[in-house]
Amino acid sequence: MILDIISIGDELLIGQTLNTNAHWIAKEMDALGLRIRQHISISDNKEAILTALQDALNHSDVVAITGGLGPTNDDLTMPVLNEYFGGKLIKDEQVYADIEEFVSRRGSDMNENNKRQAIVPDNCRVIRNKNGTAPGLWFEKDNKVVVSMPGVPHEMKKMMEDAVIPWLKEKYEFPAIVHQMVQTQGVPESKLAEMLSDWENNLPTTIKLAYLPSPGRVKLRLSSIGKDRSEVLQNIQVEVDKLKKIIPQYIYATENKKIEEVVGELLKQQNATLATAESCTGGYIAHLVTSISGSSDYFKGSVVSYANEVKVNELGVKESDLIKYGAVSQAVVEQMALGVLQKMNTDYAVATSGVAGPTGGTDEKPVGTVWIAVADKNGVEAKLHHFGNDRALNIERSAVAALGMLVKRVSIKLE
Ligand code: ATP
Repeated sequence: MILDIISIGDELLIGQTLNTNAHWIAKEMDALGLRIRQHISISDNKEAILTALQDALNHSDVVAITGGLGPTNDDLTMPVLNEYFGGKLIKDEQVYADIEEFVSRRGSDMNENNKRQAIVPDNCRVIRNKNGTAPGLWFEKDNKVVVSMPGVPHEMKKMMEDAVIPWLKEKYEFPAIVHQMVQTQGVPESKLAEMLSDWENNLPTTIKLAYLPSPGRVKLRLSSIGKDRSEVLQNIQVEVDKLKKIIPQYIYATENKKIEEVVGELLKQQNATLATAESCTGGYIAHLVTSISGSSDYFKGSVVSYANEVKVNELGVKESDLIKYGAVSQAVVEQMALGVLQKMNTDYAVATSGVAGPTGGTDEKPVGTVWIAVADKNGVEAKLHHFGNDRALNIERSAVAALGMLVKRVSIKLE
């Protein structure tokens, strides 16, 4: 079953409104088992609507349209659809009553625009609007469905949940679509692809693979479609198990989880605690860790040790080492990690010290040079990274790399 999404509205074209409707509908319909062929955003005009609709119906079974359903003259979706499907406009008493109730709940009386919204094509199934005044419209022709919903996101979502999704389930039989994530950290996409080329070449044709990179991480998405959900899941699991053997050192999750969530779960399993000592990340690691609900169970605190005197006074970094090696060095980052571990009496600590840029780089330590350390009661390890020139990206990548090191250290303990 194939779906096209048409978003109508000039505000979408000029970048005034972000098209969150297409994003939401696509996710819901993908989960339902539809294959999404195309999202298209078009202007509020008759020609554009007719062209997009005809093209969608030439290729797809279901067309989901949002926007342009209001009562004003620039809202053309309803009259255009009525003309296309050859209907007559009639007053719908149920819709009229719904609008009257909605308007009176807001303490108003029906105006002419409100009344006009109860006029709908006589050849469609009306979708009641519990959150607004414009009803949705469900047309069927040659076993295809065209559904038109208001542009207002919460009105559209309610209609999808209450009517469109259940009605589609009644009308069609859907296959099971499964997307399985395997999340990696610490390996660039190109190297990962090289390491996985044999495995990838031998993937069953029913499983599609996508590489989804973000700073410091690459998600592998394995997608498959089939009649029997458990069979599809089983086939994907076979491949995930193979991946776990090929690249165990890079995988931190086989679900769609954030790395800071994985850190939290691992620490909880061990009943362990964490502190951070952050120079170039300026508290960003602490922010990520504490963005997870329940993090007070395992996160004690952070020393944002940006200045050298804070590294010395708060973390016990040796002044002589700062002078000898500089703040961005293995010796200093290791002492930062050990210092905060002791100061906050935690089981684990991470520390960062680097040149986030864009200024401050030298020949010896160019922008993007970052040392990261992880410590526990058994000792400390540090790793040098060479990221790029973008400050925000360097901070993001440093934080992800630090959390990645932590995941490995805690996982080893758990084995
Ligand atoms: P109503 O009669 O309730 O206004 P409508 O179908 O005429 O419904 P529009 O006028 O197209 O809706 O849009 C109403 C609001 O919804 C606007 O604020 C618009 O920015 C927002 N909106 C429209 N389309 C989208 C979309 N694709 N994604 C996110 N927001 C949208």
